[in-house]
Amino acid sequence: GMDDIATPRRTKEIIQRHGFSFKKSLGQNFLIDQNILNKIVDAAGLDSTKGALEIGPGIGALTEKLAQQAGAVTAVEIDQRLIPILEEVLAPYPGVKVHHGDVLKTDLAALFKSNFAGVSKVSVVANLPYYVTTPILMKLLEERLPLENIVVMIQREVADRMAARPGTKDYGSLSIAVQYYSVPELVCIVPKTVFIPQPNVESAVIRLAVREQPPVAVDDERHFFEVVQASFAQRRKTISNNLKSRFFPTEGRERLDQLLQAAGIDPSRRGETLSIEEYAVLSNLLRKEGI
Ligand code: SAM
Repeated sequence: GMDDIATPRRTKEIIQRHGFSFKKSLGQNFLIDQNILNKIVDAAGLDSTKGALEIGPGIGALTEKLAQQAGAVTAVEIDQRLIPILEEVLAPYPGVKVHHGDVLKTDLAALFKSNFAGVSKVSVVANLPYYVTTPILMKLLEERLPLENIVVMIQREVADRMAARPGTKDYGSLSIAVQYYSVPELVCIVPKTVFIPQPNVESAVIRLAVREQPPVAVDDERHFFEVVQASFAQRRKTISNNLKSRFFPTEGRERLDQLLQAAGIDPSRRGETLSIEEYAVLSNLLRKEGI
């Protein structure tokens, strides 16, 4: 409606009245478009039995929509200057809890226990600060929080890499890490014009449907991700050369090629052609051989 926070008029009014100035270093690009906000919230599939965790509420544009749909909302904001603004604009929504802090340093498991005890499922919904997109998403996924999905606005280029399939130029260790924990789906591409101030890059909304189980049986996750990282160390090199640099810097190349073949992988292939299943087979085999 007319009094929504995320209109250019109301956003400017709130910012001016509080003397707020944007901090580029905190990735502060606020949404001023109702359509985009509705698309983000709709993609999470919320209802009054579900909870929403927002990271970086800003002046509450998205928080307000979440409060109207979810049964419980918690928003984590790092910028102290925004806390009194959020208290003011979110006063009509007493169910919303604002937590001041850096999400990367927040004990989310404890936050979930105290704030989402009464809901069946939780979504993370956010217009993320772009300078920390990947650390935030990896923290959410690796901590195995009880999440149904994660719907986030991120840089388009990062969204493309997260959703990329094997054999494409965008496919890499980030695609595999994200797809190990979730099923990504691009929701929409977003132009710069829906933010103030406008970011330098194009954006996208992506939904990660969080998996209950990984899609492959991995014996040692740390080892698996190490093999994946090493395989992409130099994109134009073969998997054999990349893995040799990492695991056999001086000798033993033949042994590595034999093991690749035993895993059904041609040593002359490049890391970007291997599926997540092939990486799992390879990691399990190398680890069994003590590599
Ligand atoms: N949700 C608002 C919107 O859509 O208009 C603001 C989004 S803005 C892209 C990112 C927000 O994340 C800012 O409010 C910023 O202060 C906050 N932020 C940046 N780094 C953070 C961190 N490490 N932990 C929590 N919040 C952070």
